[in-house]
Amino acid sequence: MRSFPDVIMPPYTTSALSDDEIANLPQFLQEVLSSVRDFRAKRASRESVPVTLPPISGQDHSLPSSIRIEDNGATLYTGQLSPGCRLCRQGLWECVFITMECNLACEFCLRPYHEDDSIRHSAWANTPYKFTEFIAECGVHGISFSGGEPLLNFSELIKWLAASAIATPRPYLWLYTNGLLLTEEMCEQLKNAGLDEIRFNLAATGYRNPHILRKIEIAAQQFSGLTVEIPAIPEDLKIVIEMLENWSDAGVRYLNLHELIYEKNTNAWSMKGKRIPAVMNDGHKCSRNPDSISAILEIMNTADSMNLPLSVNACTVYGKNLQIQGRRRLYAKRSLKTYEKLKANGTAECFCAVKNGHLAFFAPQDPVRAQKQFPGCRLARMVRLLPLSPEQPDIWIDFEFLN
Ligand code: SF4
Repeated sequence: MRSFPDVIMPPYTTSALSDDEIANLPQFLQEVLSSVRDFRAKRASRESVPVTLPPISGQDHSLPSSIRIEDNGATLYTGQLSPGCRLCRQGLWECVFITMECNLACEFCLRPYHEDDSIRHSAWANTPYKFTEFIAECGVHGISFSGGEPLLNFSELIKWLAASAIATPRPYLWLYTNGLLLTEEMCEQLKNAGLDEIRFNLAATGYRNPHILRKIEIAAQQFSGLTVEIPAIPEDLKIVIEMLENWSDAGVRYLNLHELIYEKNTNAWSMKGKRIPAVMNDGHKCSRNPDSISAILEIMNTADSMNLPLSVNACTVYGKNLQIQGRRRLYAKRSLKTYEKLKANGTAECFCAVKNGHLAFFAPQDPVRAQKQFPGCRLARMVRLLPLSPEQPDIWIDFEFLN
C-alpha cells in the first residue's frame, strides 16, 4: 500500500500539567488547554484512517503512465490541471454561494440542510462590494460561484461575477452548475461579465442526458475551459467510462473526479454505498467511499489509453486537507492577531506571559521582551489553527510552558 503522509500538522509537544496546576490557571488558558486536549484526543482517530492509494502495481489498479503525482501524493492528475484547480490546491481560492436553492435533489449532494432561507454568500464578505475589498486584501486569486444551483438567481450571479472581475490582479473565475437552466444568451452574458470556466455536474442529470450535452456544446462556443466535475460513484463507473469520448467531443477539456464523501446534515449522508470513517486533519469527521479512488484511477487509465484530449484530476480527501490548510493561510490578513506568527501550515504561534493571574501575548520573536517586562513570569508557547470563517471558534493545537 502506498500511504499519504500526514503533512498538515507539526509534531505535537507535550505539556504534562497536573489537574491542580490547570485549575489555578486563568480561565482563558484553561479553555486553551481543554481545546488542545480535545484536539490531541482526536489524533488517534485522524491517524487510524489514513487516506491511501490502492496498490499501485496490482492487476486491478495500475496507474496510468501519464499520471502526475505531486504534493506528496495529495495531487493526482493526467494532462493538466485547470487554472482553477491549480489555485484551489494552493488554497488561493474562495467560493461564493449564490443561492442554496436547487432545482434538483441529488442523493450525493453535499449542500447542507438549512433551517431558514437566509444565504451567506461568502464567509468573509456578504455583499459584492465588500467582497471586492476582501479579494484585494487577502490576495484571492481564484473565485468559484456555486450553490445550490447558481443559475436559479442569474442576476445575483452576474452582480458577484462583475464585482470579482474588477479586482486586481484579476482573479480566475469559474461556475458550478447542473446545466439545466443554461442558455446561449446566459453563456454570452457570463462571458461578458468575466467568467473563465464552467463546470458541469453531469452526475446530477444522469451523465448522458442529450439536452445537457447540447448545453455543453453551446457553452464550448464561448468558453475554452469546460469541465465536468462529478463525485466518483463506484456504481456509475461503467457509464462514466462510456461517456468519456462524448464529453470530450462536446468540448470538455477537464474531468474533475471527487473522492465520494458523505457529510452529516446533507443528502449524501443517507446515500447507499460502502463507507468508512474519515477524519480530516483538523478533526472534522465525515465518511468516504473506499472504492471511489479505485474508480478514479480506472477512469484515468481509460482516458489515457484512449488518447483523449481530456485531463483527469482526482480531488481526494487528502487533497482537500491540503487546500484547507492553504485557505487558513489565505485568510490570515483578517484572522492573524498582531502578536501571532503565521506558519506555512495555516497555524499561528504566539507566546503568552502569565503572572499573578494576568496574561500578556507576544510574538514568538519576543520572549526576551516578555521576560523583561514581566520578570518572574511563566512563559507559554501556544499554537492555534487559523479559522476558515470569522465566527469559527479557536482550535488550539499546542500549548507548553517554557519555564
Ligand atoms: S449536487 Fe448540485 S445539482 Fe445536485 S442537488 Fe446538490 S446543488 Fe443541486
